[in-house]
Amino acid sequence: MRQYLLIIILGCIILQHCTTTSNEGFTQPKTDTTLVPGLQHGFEQSPINIITTATEEGHHTIYLYFQDSIKAIENKGHTVQLDFKEGSTLIQDDTTFEFKQCHFHTPSEHLLDGKGFPLEMHIVNIMPSTDSIPQYLVIGILFKEGKRNAFIDDFLQAIPKQAHQTKDLAPGQVSFQDLVDSIPHELKGKFYHYRGSLTTPPYTETVRWYVAKHIFEASKEQIEALHAIEGSNARQVQGLYGRKIDEK
Ligand SMILES: [Zn+2]
Repeated sequence: MRQYLLIIILGCIILQHCTTTSNEGFTQPKTDTTLVPGLQHGFEQSPINIITTATEEGHHTIYLYFQDSIKAIENKGHTVQLDFKEGSTLIQDDTTFEFKQCHFHTPSEHLLDGKGFPLEMHIVNIMPSTDSIPQYLVIGILFKEGKRNAFIDDFLQAIPKQAHQTKDLAPGQVSFQDLVDSIPHELKGKFYHYRGSLTTPPYTETVRWYVAKHIFEASKEQIEALHAIEGSNARQVQGLYGRKIDEK
C-alpha cells in the first residue's frame, strides 16, 4: 500500500523582536494551589475559553512530517481513539514530537469567545524523552454541524461496538489527507496557541496547545454516532490565570 508523506507547513512567522515571554522550556511552575479555593491541579489547566480579540502575535514555526498511517481504532468507553503507526513527527521550532494518537470529545472542550462546538478532535504528540514527566503538543480541531466529513467516514463503521476493544485498520483505510484537504488555503497553518494541560487525569501541565482556526464540518449523524459511544466527555473550561494566547 502506498504511503503518503505530507509536509504541511503550519506556520512560519518568526518575529525579530519578540515582545512576549518565550513559551519554550516548559518548566513546571512551582505553584501553591492551596491558596485558591477549588483549584486542585495548578494554574495552567485546559481546556480554556479562547477570547479571539485578546491574543498576541504568534512566533512559533511548526512542521508536520506526516506518514499517513493510522494502524488501529479503539473504543475506550469514554472516547474513540485512532492510533498512529510510528514514524510521523511534528517539529515545533527545534523540538521534535512523535504523533501518538487522536481522539474525540463530544461536545468540544475549547470554546471560542464563549461558544462551544458539538465535536473536538485532539491530535496528541509526545516529545521522546527519558524524563518522568512527558511533554506534549496537542492540536485541537473543532467541528461544527454541517456536511458529512470524509475523514470521520473512513473509520466510523470500524469502531468496535464493545468498550475497551481495539480493531486493527488496513493501511490507508483512514486517511488524514481527507481532513487536510478540507482546510481552505487561507486557513492552513492558522491556530491559537497557549500553554496548558491534559484535560483528563493526571491533568499534567506540560502541553503546548494548538487549536486550529479552521472550523471543520461533520454531519449531525456522525456527531451523534460518536456521542452515542463516548457520551459527554468534555472537561469544563479552566481559568487562564494570566496566561497569554497567541495566534497566527
Ligand atoms: Zn482530549
